[in-house]
Amino acid sequence: MNQLSVSMSNLVYSKPYKYCPNCRAELVTRHVDDRDRLACPKCEFVFWNNPKPVVSLLITKGENDVLMVRRAKEPLLGYWCLPGGFLEYEETPESGIKREVKEELGLNVEVGRIIGVYRIDNDPRGIHLDMIFIGKIQGEPQANEELMEWRYFNQNELPSQIAYKHREAISDYYFQLKRDSVDWEKIDALRKKLSTIRGGSSISTVEFLRKDRRSH
Ligand SMILES: [Zn+2]
Repeated sequence: MNQLSVSMSNLVYSKPYKYCPNCRAELVTRHVDDRDRLACPKCEFVFWNNPKPVVSLLITKGENDVLMVRRAKEPLLGYWCLPGGFLEYEETPESGIKREVKEELGLNVEVGRIIGVYRIDNDPRGIHLDMIFIGKIQGEPQANEELMEWRYFNQNELPSQIAYKHREAISDYYFQLKRDSVDWEKIDALRKKLSTIRGGSSISTVEFLRKDRRSH
């Protein structure tokens, strides 16, 4: 399993601002929006310390192989992860992930559906929100200097050192695949047959899923 352990004290205000970036006054602790925050006594600046948005991409080969890259710099030097990185201010998640994959692996990528959004609380740089998408590439990746190497791993034989929540994301992806490949129509036909035999009636799964979707 993943041996990442970073204590919370390293994550919050690891390098807090000392002076206001607007007016250079020394920051003070002020109670703003329900909690103590670093804020400027002279202007409106508040150090909100929001989580940072990150994008990552899951690229597969065949039925079971996932492309992973190995970090060549701190933090988490030597850890494996999915390609990706921090969003630039003007970027959409899609344009950000395209840029990152181009930089890291020298490839153009087609971005597909989202797998999920994960709260990263095991990166010494702070708390991040990682939006993880499915992607398609063409051609052979070429790792840049930020990476030691890249490799396809079988989903059942992932490396022991995986950064962030990427092990969870990979497992979620394969779970979603299985779930989506279920033939609900077929199961319903079977259930109808069964309930006729039993003489009762029950709501069909397709009907149930439709209702469930409407109520959200
Ligand atoms: Zn200020």
